[in-house]
Amino acid sequence: MRVLYVSTEVHPALKTGGLADVNAALPGALASRGIDVALLLPGFPALMEAATAGGAPVSLGAAFGCPLVNLMPCRLGDLPAWLIDAPALYGRTGNPYVGPDGQDWPDNARRFALLGWVAARFADGGIGDWRPDIVHSHDWHAGLAGAYLRARGGAGPGSVFTVHNLAYQGNFPATTFPDLALPPHFFSMHGLEFHGALSFMKAGLFYADRITTVSPTYAREIQSAEHGFGMEGLLRSRAGALSGILNGVDTSTWDPRRDPALPARFSADALEGKAVCRQALRAEFGLPQAGGPLFGVVSRLTAQKGLDLLLEALPAIAAIDGQGALLGTGERALEAAWQLAAASHPGRVAVRHGYDEALAHRIFGGADIIAVPSRFEPCGLTQMYGLLYGALPLVRRTGGLADTVHEAGRVGAATHTAADAPGNGFVFELPHVTDLSAAIARAGALWRSPTAWQAVRNAGMRAEFGWAHAAGHYADLYRQIRPEA
Ligand code: ADP
Repeated sequence: MRVLYVSTEVHPALKTGGLADVNAALPGALASRGIDVALLLPGFPALMEAATAGGAPVSLGAAFGCPLVNLMPCRLGDLPAWLIDAPALYGRTGNPYVGPDGQDWPDNARRFALLGWVAARFADGGIGDWRPDIVHSHDWHAGLAGAYLRARGGAGPGSVFTVHNLAYQGNFPATTFPDLALPPHFFSMHGLEFHGALSFMKAGLFYADRITTVSPTYAREIQSAEHGFGMEGLLRSRAGALSGILNGVDTSTWDPRRDPALPARFSADALEGKAVCRQALRAEFGLPQAGGPLFGVVSRLTAQKGLDLLLEALPAIAAIDGQGALLGTGERALEAAWQLAAASHPGRVAVRHGYDEALAHRIFGGADIIAVPSRFEPCGLTQMYGLLYGALPLVRRTGGLADTVHEAGRVGAATHTAADAPGNGFVFELPHVTDLSAAIARAGALWRSPTAWQAVRNAGMRAEFGWAHAAGHYADLYRQIRPEA
């Protein structure tokens, strides 16, 4: 089974969010199952630098306004990869999607059309004599792969499209359509047209043989108006082809027993290091000793993540003598609001803005609670990192958060969820400060029973979130599409 894995970012070379963590781990987990997987990525400078050289480049000629596109065979980490060398489109440092002004690059439609177009070129063979059985594309950036495969006609690879976040859709004005070199009839309701514009996300959803998303609950939620971002009708019509496969954790990067970023290492059986990490984190953030739990947040600052709600709930954290340490970057208004909160709650709230991978690890290591109050969350990785690092997750019951976190703070009969999963964190229903504050109060109550707290925490640290399980589900899906491969 040969799988071309098409995406845009890979940790540690290039990361803007959880997608990079997934791409660093899932392809390797697929390879461990005997699947012949190769990555296809745009030749962003950070990826070109991280790649180790392979064979001779394959010239694809001029495409999408780039005078010469070359395909560079290489290795990224342990895996074979192809980087699309198109300097006119990709030779820009920094964030792969937006310019230094924070705005989308104006030629993003052509930049990412090229990615899908190259993916479809593999179907013809002749690129390294490697013809995939499946083209597996991720998020809107790779969304046109299925459209180009369909336009090519004839028998070809099967296609899987994975939605990591439906909120980012790659929608462009209809006037962009001629740039894409697709047959005119593709610009229709039964194609990639979306309310008069064109949508890479819709193309991915419409043309793929199978659609997956990164948790079972999110697969259901995106069929509703609340979470479907206008795609819910299409998703409902494709429900038979849609499934949710929960992301895993790359334990070669996220393991408190071996994490070089931590001031001390620890495990569920040897927790002295956890106390060292907590102490060091307080010191680093200038927070004094306190009687309540230390809340940590590591997040993009966008409305999705619900961190405005957490600001409103600061009185509830103060009421249990808790403290908050936040690392986040994103919307200016949210950054300013957290800055203000830190200034007006000295010793209680401290913030760092920016992107800092090592500090993120230290927060998971030192925090008692990881807050993820997202309005929606396709999967979410930080709640799982929290669990493994002995920080109980406090989350809204949505998407992958609902699939991984179960209430532990209701004393008495309701300590188990309906599915009888043991409680491992704190879960609130509605994205309102009242519900969130009540969950914080439950966390405070459990904190006051150290033995109960430790039992919940230690069980969480022993949880299994490896990628093998997800890789098995993807392999089954590939086989359903191409049983003969
Ligand atoms: P999303 O992909 O929506 O941002 P996830 O929870 O799936 O959310 O993944 C977020 C990833 O990005 C995690 O690895 C998290 O540690 C990391 N991250 C988010 N914000 C920061 C930051 N400011 N500094 C360092 N790492 C961050």
